[in-house]
Amino acid sequence: MNKIQKLPDHIANQIAAGEVIQRPASVIKELMENSIDAGATAVHVNIKDAGKTLIQIIDDGIGMGSSDAILCFERHATSKITKADDLFNLATKGFRGEALASIAAISHVELRTKRSEDATGHLVRIEGSKITEQNETVCPNGTQFEIKNLFFNVPARRNFLKSDKVEFGHITDEFIRVALAHPAVAFKLTHNGSVLYDLRDAVLRKRIVDILGKNTNDRLVPIEESTDIVQLKGFVLKPEYSKKSRGEQYLFVNDRFFKSTYFNHAITRAYDGLLKEGYFPSYFIYMDVNPQRIDVNVHPTKTEIKFEEEKLIYSILVSSIRQALGKFNIAPSLDFDRETSFDLPVSMKDQPAYEPEIKVNPEYNPFKTTSSSSTNSGSSSKNYTSAIKSAGFGKETNFDQKDWENFYSIKEEESVVHNSQISTLFSDDITYVVKGNYIVVPSENGFFMIHARRAYEQVIFSDSMQRFILRPLNAQTLLFPIEIEVSRSQRTLIEENINLLRQLGFELEISEETLSLTAVPEFLEEETIRPCVEEILGTLEYEDPSEKDLAQGVLATVAKSAAMKKIDLQNKEHTKHLIQQLFECDQYIHTADGRRIIVEMNMEEIGNKFN
Ligand code: ADP
Ligand code: MG
Repeated sequence: MNKIQKLPDHIANQIAAGEVIQRPASVIKELMENSIDAGATAVHVNIKDAGKTLIQIIDDGIGMGSSDAILCFERHATSKITKADDLFNLATKGFRGEALASIAAISHVELRTKRSEDATGHLVRIEGSKITEQNETVCPNGTQFEIKNLFFNVPARRNFLKSDKVEFGHITDEFIRVALAHPAVAFKLTHNGSVLYDLRDAVLRKRIVDILGKNTNDRLVPIEESTDIVQLKGFVLKPEYSKKSRGEQYLFVNDRFFKSTYFNHAITRAYDGLLKEGYFPSYFIYMDVNPQRIDVNVHPTKTEIKFEEEKLIYSILVSSIRQALGKFNIAPSLDFDRETSFDLPVSMKDQPAYEPEIKVNPEYNPFKTTSSSSTNSGSSSKNYTSAIKSAGFGKETNFDQKDWENFYSIKEEESVVHNSQISTLFSDDITYVVKGNYIVVPSENGFFMIHARRAYEQVIFSDSMQRFILRPLNAQTLLFPIEIEVSRSQRTLIEENINLLRQLGFELEISEETLSLTAVPEFLEEETIRPCVEEILGTLEYEDPSEKDLAQGVLATVAKSAAMKKIDLQNKEHTKHLIQQLFECDQYIHTADGRRIIVEMNMEEIGNKFN
């Protein structure tokens, strides 16, 4: 007998389902998008028990004929593309023809659908990919899907589902994303019998206000920009209404919600100097891009999108948002001390250089606990998996080596420093410190300028990352516990992640509405504890990070906090040590959140300055 056998369809579908359908919210997203693709003008989403018991989606779209009502459940069955070329010209949400096959493989589905030109509708019941009933039926024009017993035959998935509160949070996230992408369609969401959203068809501004509340209206600043590459429209929130969490950050391209840390960075930059420490801008930005110039195919659930002209769009975003904020007379006069600015990229231009305030605590040496941990890129990450396993993390956290390698690999577009150059850096002792923060060092082709504070931050980040992989991080006990109010959903999220938070150095107790911190990671400065914890709460609540993203985020925040201390650059040895440590980090060009640490000025650029 052959060893290799083709998997039966229902098994293949079940495997594919794992990619497309992670939780009830994924079903809601896929079905809502199908309704939009079917030209619906109204979509009703009705769920019970956060979708664990029932998900029902009713639309008034074009409906399906009798054979399509069966075919739609086959894998790779789609009416949306017919040839590979269509992939580069997508005008619909779906195109893979995977969603219904996946959903049908792992639940009990009932479909009722009718086209306006047909006299009767069709009913199809399907359970774990097997059709159990097909019949004519009486039903209104359009389509209704009922999904029951999701993951009934994938117990691992079912057990993995979080509390109703958390799952319902994901559902509203998806619902809002689709509703924001299609203001001209009416949407309704009911949960356990109560109506949560009842959104009439509207213009974009009204749709945003209907979702966020009336007082949002005055806070919106319109964005509009038309270029050959991208058409931008939408709104940003006036900076004074920014939030301590990343909740209201929405990017859409061709009416599709997507996530992009790169563009988020651009938008944040446009707010440079306008946000209080620890605050994030809110935005609803809609891009129209020639579909041939983007690739939505990179991710099975399609929240990441590749753009051909990413860099240009970045600049267009920064300039058009800056302009819009400027037009609305939002002067950079908010009362905050830039020096302690907590999460914003501090761009070097457009602002006066600040006076040195930085001094290194001579007793403090972040590197002494690691012997050879910070080796040159690549090699150190090879040992992660075994290190994690031996530290006992493997069981709880499911990290694997590839994850950890990605963990570190924030894309470095251009590597300014090459290993061969590093040695020349230290061949002589010529370093200059400008304004207490910029270190100038000769390079092979000219000179480097290093942002000292960011360098210091990166060194601490990379060092604590490496130590964290090996063992839980040290905690510093607080003299007086710090109490932070939390909502019920935040409490659940903390409880779900408590092990990881402990490993990162947080000791905490949690009662009904209060989080009481008794110890925090070392290096976390007293005044940044609160904003740091609030940032973690925001991330948990709105981003549903994987454990590795959460760990990385926390460590990056801690490093940022540590780098607010005074760094003494008067001391040549310290400065040299800092540069050395920086170049030993796996990433030394950008900080974990993408701020530039080092730039090179080459001979040509220097020469040009003298023309
Ligand atoms: P895709 O959306 O990628 O084509 P799906 O599995 O989500 O794949 O859907 C398969 C097909 O079923 C769609 O291409 C469409 O023809 C049909 N279909 C799904 N949902 C609806 C709906 N609500 N109304 C009409 N047709 C639908
Ligand atoms: Mg679809």
